[in-house]
Amino acid sequence: MGQPRLPLVAEVLPVYDGQWAVVLSCWYVALFLAVLPLWWIVRRRRAAKRAMIGGCLHCGYSLTGNTSGTCPECGTAIPKASRPA
Ligand SMILES: [Zn+2]
Repeated sequence: MGQPRLPLVAEVLPVYDGQWAVVLSCWYVALFLAVLPLWWIVRRRRAAKRAMIGGCLHCGYSLTGNTSGTCPECGTAIPKASRPA
């Protein structure tokens, strides 16, 4: 008997009398579970950058000189704290 062969991504293996097991690679599960946190981080960084340069938090449109309280590009309400002076 050699070392057990690990699947590259996923593999369905017969286990016992008509029963099957799905074996997943740890890296594949970790990558799958990392997608949502990475997406959340990218969105937060993008919104922070837009707020820093005075853009709309939703679409990034420049809000310089805007006094209406809504983004003219996408209609998103602009919080008072992030309105450019
Ligand atoms: Zn906008």
